[in-house]
Amino acid sequence: MSGRPKPTKSATKPEPVPQPPERPSFAVALGARLASVRPLFRLVGLPLAAILVVLVGRRFVGADWQTGLAISIWALTLAGAAMAWRFRLSNTVLIFLVLLAAHLLSGPLARPTVTVGTLGLGLLWLLPVILPLLVALPERGLLGKSGFLRLLLVVLPPLSIAAHAVSGAPTPRWMMVQISPGVWGGPAVLGVLGAGVLAYLAWRRRGAMEVAVLAALVLSIWSIWLNRGPEPLWFLTVSAAVVVVAVVQNGYRVAFHDELTGIPGRRALKSLLATMGNRYVIAMLDVDHFKKFNDTYGHDVGDQVLCRVARVIEGVTGGGQAFRYGGEEFTIVFPNRTPAQALPHLEKVREALAATPFVVRGPDRPEEKPENPQTADNRQEVRITMSIGAAERRSDRSDWEAIMKAADEALYASKQAGRNKVTLAT
Ligand code: GH3
Ligand code: MG
Ligand code: MG
Repeated sequence: MSGRPKPTKSATKPEPVPQPPERPSFAVALGARLASVRPLFRLVGLPLAAILVVLVGRRFVGADWQTGLAISIWALTLAGAAMAWRFRLSNTVLIFLVLLAAHLLSGPLARPTVTVGTLGLGLLWLLPVILPLLVALPERGLLGKSGFLRLLLVVLPPLSIAAHAVSGAPTPRWMMVQISPGVWGGPAVLGVLGAGVLAYLAWRRRGAMEVAVLAALVLSIWSIWLNRGPEPLWFLTVSAAVVVVAVVQNGYRVAFHDELTGIPGRRALKSLLATMGNRYVIAMLDVDHFKKFNDTYGHDVGDQVLCRVARVIEGVTGGGQAFRYGGEEFTIVFPNRTPAQALPHLEKVREALAATPFVVRGPDRPEEKPENPQTADNRQEVRITMSIGAAERRSDRSDWEAIMKAADEALYASKQAGRNKVTLAT
């Protein structure tokens, strides 16, 4: 592996340390509790923050905000669309266009003769259908046929509504359903359905964009419901900002997370290690005989094994943070821990991996898990194990490169001792 000091065989042989019978401190227990709700918080944190911002800000938004908010909507949607374009998130570019259309249709395009409510109503039908569709459809790029169709899907309905508004022609019946608070008509049902689809997608994919668009849908429908004054602008501005945040989150994920396994990668590890304090432990983990998996079952199965390993080690307890170092090597960092404190958690990870057999997905393996995997014909079980070495920061090895080298030497000792072992550096 480049950039990492190789373990030297002349180093004093680290010895496996017996597991100390230590009770976790209150802070450790609290940390573990918080870690278990972290994924949920990641999922609902953004929409909750957005709704809070909207509700608090609502009290301060006055008529003098109107121009500033209108400019903000243009700035956020256009900057967001440009960013999404750079990240090749073509559906997200269209999502920004929908939000801009929502602003234009509920504000500047509305003429005194056509009530804002009528236009807003058209959007009430459009937002809950188009936004979930753009989230659900796979990315295909904007420049092909599929991109063109999607663009029409986004642009045509708002344009037709706007045309009705500008021409003064009779508004189609479907746009004219009365909208007033307390009336639960078709639009409200569609809104709930659209939000339901987005919530389902957010739950399935755990994606920042799914959650952000869900928040944007709720806020933009809410804004049109409010219908007058600067408040709709305020709601729409926040919903555009939420989607911009999701684009930035996406960029962060691309930069810091490993593409195959989804856990943080080496860049994230290095930025964490650069901010570590005086007490921490680095553990290096290496899958045993991994080359054999690749040689026997192919590279694809090797990749599945790496994903399985990642799923197990990301559940590490004791405040540990898991990273894919590269290839079949992983790293866990335990901030504010001694090796003795980290050891039981490393043993738990090692045991968890070794205890669950990996079922090789052959080409004829059904997509769905068989009802009774014990009797499925084409199943082929293999055992995955890994060897682990860990080292702490000390005065004589204060930089993380030196700690990692010591952890690597301990890992080498685990391999020498027969693999599927944890060794602490002396
Ligand atoms: P040991 O128990 O001594 O660690 O044996 P090993 O076979 O795991 O060790 P070795 O370092 O020789 O093999 C690592 C292999 O990992 C070599 C390489 O082909 C494979 N590998 C590295 N990255 C990936 C990847 O992203 N996907 C797959 N499928 N294989 C990978
Ligand atoms: Mg290796
Ligand atoms: Mg290996």
